[in-house]
Amino acid sequence: MKSHRQPDSIWYPFTYSEDIQDDPPVVMDHGAGVYLYDKQGRGYLDAIGSWWVSILGHNHPEITDAVKAQADKLEHVMMAGFVSEPTLRTAELLSGMLPKGLSRIFFSDDGSTAVEVALKVALQYWALKGENRSEFVGLAGAYHGDTLGAMAVGMIPQYHTLFHQRFRKAHFANSPYCYRCPCGLEKQTCNAECMDSLEDIFRERGESIAACIFEPLVQGAAGMRVYPVKVLKRIFALCSKYGILTIADEVAVGFGRTGKLFACEHVKDVPDLMCLAKGLTGGYLPLSATVVKEHIYREFCGAFPSERIFHHGHSFTGNPLASAAAQATLTIIDRERIPQSLEGTMAHFRNALTSLSEFDIVGDIRSAGMIGAVELVKNRATKERLPAESRLAHRIAQRALDLGLLVRPLGDVLYFMPAYVITEDVIDNMFYLARVAIRQTLNEHNAT
Ligand code: PLP
Repeated sequence: MKSHRQPDSIWYPFTYSEDIQDDPPVVMDHGAGVYLYDKQGRGYLDAIGSWWVSILGHNHPEITDAVKAQADKLEHVMMAGFVSEPTLRTAELLSGMLPKGLSRIFFSDDGSTAVEVALKVALQYWALKGENRSEFVGLAGAYHGDTLGAMAVGMIPQYHTLFHQRFRKAHFANSPYCYRCPCGLEKQTCNAECMDSLEDIFRERGESIAACIFEPLVQGAAGMRVYPVKVLKRIFALCSKYGILTIADEVAVGFGRTGKLFACEHVKDVPDLMCLAKGLTGGYLPLSATVVKEHIYREFCGAFPSERIFHHGHSFTGNPLASAAAQATLTIIDRERIPQSLEGTMAHFRNALTSLSEFDIVGDIRSAGMIGAVELVKNRATKERLPAESRLAHRIAQRALDLGLLVRPLGDVLYFMPAYVITEDVIDNMFYLARVAIRQTLNEHNAT
């Protein structure tokens, strides 16, 4: 049910202004587990964890209590020269979970900022070592946030084209987009050839490159492009061969999402820098962390010159309320052995997702851990894309909302990324509602 009397002064993110006029945003009032409830008390199954942040469910009693208790004591203290107890405890807990070697944690506000910090650390690291390396390498289809620096290393045409001329120099290797393999190969015969393009860049520009940034295992915003572990292995191997720093952007996939605590743990390699955000606070408050290996941090040690200071720090860095949420979240993850304890639920989720293959418009089904996605096409045999103006996925999402299912597609990709507290029954219901929404939309589409 839509709310009326909304101020028209709000400018919404990633949203056509016309869509807002036709369909004003639903005013959510409260949440519980995987459900959100609007002001009229109508429930919506949040199939995407509100942009992937809600990993333990909405209004988790333990996290709520932790934030409340902290609010009674101290809401904020600046982080240069001061720190709060929950920030210390969060650092301790996180240190115990990180892949071996990632020993230093720099807190900031959100995923984009965690990436900005990683890029700046890499630039300053090389400057401190006396090497002139100021270029970055990313992958086509990458999304690392939408501040200018983060956009410079991302490459999704609809988000980035407008701004591209203004960016710092970045180079892009192929996207590991298996359904539409850039090398025209089938999965069975793939040997990570898509990363030949990465090697070409390293061969040509290697000595100017500060770091290579990538989303391990899944390119999220590009449409949940799940790619094989061998591709991730090859990225690490090439970076190691050419002496390039690795930045693993785990903002979307960190904290259990792909079935390992960190997606990088699907391989043996540990990145030089890793970006974390979203699920870090269970989706309660903005907080992020850029974690780095000791050899990176060492370059910043010492009193002089002032270039050894890392010149970054936002007003809300290490905010105590956000840290209290993070402390509670990490405590729960640790105690409940997430993600190992989710193996059964994840297997059920993967199977249930395949029920969407009954529709001819479903061209590809991809999944990793508790991420599931289907790419909609005009023709399954030829993989011909849907005409952009059909906005079919968008219409399916609108229909789903009427049925009480909250999904928000990425282009022609419908995806599911619920909180881990979802039960098998609710997973079945989620895909049942998705099927009804698709069927109804197609019936309407065919009738016009
Ligand atoms: N990196 C990745 C991989 C993301 O998926 C996102 C957001 O979706 C970001 C960075 C940016 O995070 P934020 O929206 O918190 O700035």
